[in-house]
Amino acid sequence: MPLTLPLENTYASLPARLFSAQAPTPVGAPELLALNEDLARDLALDPAMLKSDDGLAALAGNSVPAGATPIAQAYAGHQFGGWVPQLGDGRAVLLGELVAPDGRRVDIQLKGAGRTPYSRSGDGRAWLGPVLREYIVSEAMHAMAVPTTRALAAVATGETVLREAPLPGAVLTRVASSHVRVGTFQYLYARQDIEGLAALAAHVMARHYPGATDAFDLLDRVVTAQARLIARWMGLGFIHGVMNTDNMSIAGETIDYGPCAFMDGYHPDTVYSSIDRFGRYAYGRQPEIAVWNLAQFATSILPLMGEEAPAVERATRLVNEFAPRFQDAWRDVFRAKLGLLEPGPGDGDLVEALLTIMARDRADFTRVFRGLVDGTAGDWITGRPAFDAWMSSWMERRRRESVSEADQRAAMARSNPAVIPRNHHVEAVISAALDGDLAPFRALQRATTHPFDDDPVFSLPPAPGEEITATFCGT
Ligand code: AMP
Ligand code: MG
Repeated sequence: MPLTLPLENTYASLPARLFSAQAPTPVGAPELLALNEDLARDLALDPAMLKSDDGLAALAGNSVPAGATPIAQAYAGHQFGGWVPQLGDGRAVLLGELVAPDGRRVDIQLKGAGRTPYSRSGDGRAWLGPVLREYIVSEAMHAMAVPTTRALAAVATGETVLREAPLPGAVLTRVASSHVRVGTFQYLYARQDIEGLAALAAHVMARHYPGATDAFDLLDRVVTAQARLIARWMGLGFIHGVMNTDNMSIAGETIDYGPCAFMDGYHPDTVYSSIDRFGRYAYGRQPEIAVWNLAQFATSILPLMGEEAPAVERATRLVNEFAPRFQDAWRDVFRAKLGLLEPGPGDGDLVEALLTIMARDRADFTRVFRGLVDGTAGDWITGRPAFDAWMSSWMERRRRESVSEADQRAAMARSNPAVIPRNHHVEAVISAALDGDLAPFRALQRATTHPFDDDPVFSLPPAPGEEITATFCGT
C-alpha cells in the first residue's frame, strides 16, 4: 500500500508552462542508506514509517505517496555566464509540499529519480558519491546555521549508472523552502510570459517574503537574503562552485551542492571545481557573482516594475544595495569570529589584515580561526612576525570592549567550527561507501553535525599528500 503523506502542491497551481507532471521512475532494489530522523520528526514524519517497506518505496520513487502531485520544474539559466534557455529538473521530481508543525512549508524532492522532459541527454539519475556528498555538506551547513536545503534520506537504487565508469545509483530526498531559482524567473522572462511572471512573483512573495507587496519589494528582500547568505559562506571558507543563476535560490538558501568545497588553505583565488577553469566561481569572487546573478533576476522581473527609466533606475539601485548589505553582513560574521561583540571602526581592516597574512602561505582557514579560541592559531601560520603583530592589535581591540573575555571567547567558539566536511574526508567516505562500508559516512556525518565540538580525526586538515585539489560535479 503506498504511503500516505499530507502533501500539497501549490506550485502545481501555477501556470502549466512552469512544470510537467512527472512521476519518479522506479528503481530495481532500493536500500536505505541514511535517514535524517531529527529532520523527519521536525516535519512530523514518523521515522519508523519512513524506514518501513512502504516508506522506502516512497523515498526511492517506487511508489508515489497517495494524494501527491509529482512534477518536474522548468527553469532556464546562465551557466558560467552563458545563456541556456531551457533547463529544468532533469533528474529530480518534486513530490509536493509539506507544512511542518511550525507552519513552515517545504518542498519534498527526489533527486536522481529518473528522466523528465528536461533531462536533455542526461539519464535522470545520480550516483552514490554526489548523493552522500550533498547529504553530508547540506546537513553540516544546517548545523552551522547557514540557510540551506536539507537531506532527509539517501537510498541506494540497486542499479548501476554509467559515468566515467559504472557506478552505484542513489536517490537523495531533498527538503527545501522551495526550489524556485533566479533561473525560474529567467525562464518566463525569456518567453515574455508576463502573466507567468506575476503569478510566480506572487507565489514566492506569499511563501518566502510575506509583507512584500510588489516586485521592488521582492528584489529588495532577495538582495538582502543573498547578501547574508554569501557572507555566511565566506565566514566558513565555503565555495559553492557552480553559482549559475539556476543554482541561486529565491528563498536565499544554499542549493545544488555539486563540486562545492570548504577551503583547506586560505586564498581568495581558491577554486576546486574541475569545470571552473577560469575561476569564475572562486571563493573571493562569490560576492560579485551574486551581484551578477541578482542583476539577471532584476532584469527578469522588470516587466512587473513598469520597465520605464525610473523603474530601471530603482531596480539598479536595489541591486547595487548588495555591496553595502554584504559588507555589513560580512563584518558581522567575521567580527563574531574574532570575538568582537561591540562593532567598532576599523574592524573590517583588522579582519582583512589577518586574511592577508593567512593568504601568504595558505594557512588553514578553519584551524586558524578555531585556533583563536584556544590560542593555537599561530601554529598554523608560518609568517610569525606579522601574525604576532596582528595578535597584539587584536588583543588591544578586544580590551576596548566592555564585554568579558569569557563572553568574547564563547562567541568565537560558536562562530568558528572545529569540524567542517573537508574534501579529503568526504572523498574517503565515498570510497568506503563504494566498497560497501557506510561506517565512515556515519562517523563523518556525526562529526560534521556537531561542528563546534573538537574531534581528534575530523578536525585535522589534510596531511601532505592527502589534500584534494579538484572536485567534480559528478552528475
Ligand atoms: P547542475 O549543474 O547540477 O545544477 O545541473 C544543471 C542541469 O543539468 C539541471 O537542469 C539538471 O537537472 C541537469 N542534469 C544534471 N545531471 C543530470 C542527469 N544525470 N540527467 C539529467 N539531467 C541532469
Ligand atoms: Mg542545478
